[in-house]
Parts: sequence; C-alpha cells; structure tokens
Amino acid sequence: MERHILGYKCRGCGRVWYPNRGVCQDCRGIEFEPVPLPKNGKLLTFTHLHNLAADFEVPSLWLGIVELSNGNRITGQLRIDSPKIGMKVVGKVEPVRQVGYQTHHGMIFYKA
Ligand SMILES: [Zn+2]
Repeated sequence: MERHILGYKCRGCGRVWYPNRGVCQDCRGIEFEPVPLPKNGKLLTFTHLHNLAADFEVPSLWLGIVELSNGNRITGQLRIDSPKIGMKVVGKVEPVRQVGYQTHHGMIFYKA
C-alpha cells in the first residue's frame, strides 16, 4: 500500500493546510477533512545536518523544504547527491526514524 502524508482541507473554502492549524486562516472555518498531499514539488531550500540524535542510523543527512504542487510546504529528508534550490523533486513516504519499537514515517525526496 502506498503511504501518503495528509493535508487538511477546509470544508468552508477548500484550501488545504499542512500541518493542521485548527482554524482556517482564510475563512475561519474549523472543519477539515484529511486529503493526501501531492508528492511532486520543487526544492525551496536545504541544509546538511550533522550531530543527529543517537537513534538515527546515519551520521548525517540532508533536510529540505519543498513546495508541493498544490502550494503546501513540507520538510523532508533529501536522497539527492547534490541538491540545488529550485530543482524538481518527488517524495516517497518511508521510514525516517526508529524510536524503540515504533517506526516513524516521513516524506523523503528524490530527484524527479
Ligand atoms: Zn477555509
């Protein structure tokens, strides 16, 4: 089964928010329905992280902020050799961290 990250679509005006803000900042609506976020987008900015928490199994990783095709912005790991601002990327929802017996999933971006 393909996994998705969920956005929150306002029942009042239809705008999709990510993450959930509780109150729509466009129409003040408070009812939302979960919708899968698109996985294509462009890389807005990125950074290389060192000194990760002990439960990460890699010594360092690239973290980027991506503007998805619907305009939502999301943070995710990058599996890209030499990332460039503005490049097109495509995300997959994959395990990003193991905490005890719990696996946390997040969006990992690849070159599109
Ligand atoms: Zn709204």
